[in-house]
Amino acid sequence: MGEWNRVFNFAAGPAVMPESALLTARDEMLNWRGRGMSVMEMTHRSKMYLEIFDHTVSLFRELLHVPDEYAVLLLQGGATGQFAAIPMNLMTGSGRADYIDSGNFAHGAAAEAEKYGKVSIVASSRDDNYTHIPAWNESAFDKSADYFYITTNNTIFGTRYAQLPETGSVPLVADASSNILSEEMDIRRFGVLYAGAQKNIGPAGLTVVIVRRDLLGRPMPITPKIMNWTVMAEKDSMLNTPPTYAIYMAGLCLEWLKEKGGVAAIEKHNIEKASWLYDYLDESKVFRPTADKPSRSRMNVTFRTASDETDAAFVSYAQQRGLVNLKGHRLTGGLRASIYNAMPPEGVKKLVEVMKSFECSGQEA
Ligand SMILES: *Cc1c(COP(=O)(O)O)cnc(C)c1O
Repeated sequence: MGEWNRVFNFAAGPAVMPESALLTARDEMLNWRGRGMSVMEMTHRSKMYLEIFDHTVSLFRELLHVPDEYAVLLLQGGATGQFAAIPMNLMTGSGRADYIDSGNFAHGAAAEAEKYGKVSIVASSRDDNYTHIPAWNESAFDKSADYFYITTNNTIFGTRYAQLPETGSVPLVADASSNILSEEMDIRRFGVLYAGAQKNIGPAGLTVVIVRRDLLGRPMPITPKIMNWTVMAEKDSMLNTPPTYAIYMAGLCLEWLKEKGGVAAIEKHNIEKASWLYDYLDESKVFRPTADKPSRSRMNVTFRTASDETDAAFVSYAQQRGLVNLKGHRLTGGLRASIYNAMPPEGVKKLVEVMKSFECSGQEA
C-alpha cells in the first residue's frame, strides 16, 4: 500500500492503526515537540508528559461522551487483568454476580470471578459454539447481584450485542475491547465499560477502565493496589508508572478519529464496511458467514469455506495479494477479517474483490 509498502492487516489484535498516528510518532520519535527527548524517555511526573497524558484522557472523554460522574482510568494488565479486578473491586455487597457467557473471553472472565465470589451464568451460547448472542430472560437476573457482566463484541466468534440487557439498579459491567469507539454507546447505561487498547484504540499495554464514581470505594481488602480502581482514581492512574508510550500513541490514534468526525461518523463507515463483506458472504458459493445474522459483529467478520484445506488455500491466496492475518482464531478455525476503525474502506473492498477472484479461480480443495 502506497509509499511504505504496507499490507492490509486484518489481525484481531494487536491490529491495524491509523497511518497518520504512526507517521506522527515517527516524526516525534527523537524529539517530541522541541523538548529534546522521545516520549519514551520522559518521566511520567514531568509537566511535558502530563500534557500528553491529560490530552489522551480528554480525547477519551470527548469522543466517548463520558459524563463527569465517571472516572477514566488508564491502566496496565490488559482486559484479562480486569477479569480479576472487576470482582475484586465490586463483589463486596451480596458477593454475587451475573454473567452472560457469549464467547471465550466472557467465559474466562466468569471463571476468574469465581475465585472471588458466587457467579451465575444467566445465559450462554457455549453449546452452540457461540455463533450468536444468547437470549436472556430478565426474570432470571439476580436483583441483588453486585454487578451484571457482558462482552459487547465477541472478537473470536464475530458476534455483537445489538441490544443491551436491562439490569435495573444492578450495574452493567462490559468488556468492549473489540468495539469501543466503533459505535456510539451511552456510557450512562454502564456501571463500568472497559477495553484493552490493542484492538480499536492503539498499541498493546494500555487498558482503559471507565467507572461510575459511586462504584468506587468498595474494593476487597486483598485487591492489589495496581488493580484497585479506588486507589487508581485517587492517584489519576499514576500510583506507579503508567504505560507512557502506549498512552501517547492512543492519543495520536484518538486525534485521527476526531479528525474523521468522531464515533458517530466512524460508525457509519463501519456499518458500510461490514455490509460489503456480509452482502458478499450471503451470496457466495464458496464462503459462508459463521455468526447468526442478528448477532453479526461489525468489527470481526467470521466466515469459512467447505474445508480446512480451502480455508488455508484462501489465506495464502490473499496473503500473496497483500491481505494478511485472515486465518480464524485457533479455537474456531475458519477465517476472520477484523475490520476495526483504522482498516481503510479500500482494504475491505480489496478483500471482497480477492474473495470473488478466488471463487472464480476454482481453487477450492
Ligand atoms: C482481546 C480481548 C481480550 C483479551 O485482552 P488482553 O488485553 O490480551 O488481556 C478480552 N476481551 C475481549 C473482548 C478481547 O477482544
